[in-house]
Amino acid sequence: MGTAVLAVAELLARLSKVKQTRRDTWVAICPAHDDTRPSLAIRALADGRTLLCCPARQCDVEDIVGAVGLQVSELFPERTPSSHYPPVRSRWPAADLLKLAGQEAMLAGIAALMLVNDAPVSDQDRQRNVDAASRLLRIADEAA
Ligand SMILES: [Zn+2]
Repeated sequence: MGTAVLAVAELLARLSKVKQTRRDTWVAICPAHDDTRPSLAIRALADGRTLLCCPARQCDVEDIVGAVGLQVSELFPERTPSSHYPPVRSRWPAADLLKLAGQEAMLAGIAALMLVNDAPVSDQDRQRNVDAASRLLRIADEAA
């Protein structure tokens, strides 16, 4: 994590009106356009990459980083196309997420009951339960 965390700290130190919104997420004034309220989103990923997103003007990562005198390579240990946030991040309506979560939780609950009652659990049921668990995690992530 060492160098990546340093890179994020370095970047944050050069931005203005930095505000932490989550453990690994910040917003700040975008240095690449005449931003008046913090519209730049910064996110530190566990794999060492730093994601930048300027939804207001879709500013280029190169421009944003360059505007504060840093190199893109300093933020991305290994630059990949996914270094950018997707330009438009679709948000699911909360009600839909809750409905999905409810369905998945019900499936998981049925599977748990089968286990408790020593009912035979087929590989298919097991897989469905694993899928339900991972979907629940994705739903939670989406709702966050
Ligand atoms: Zn911008």
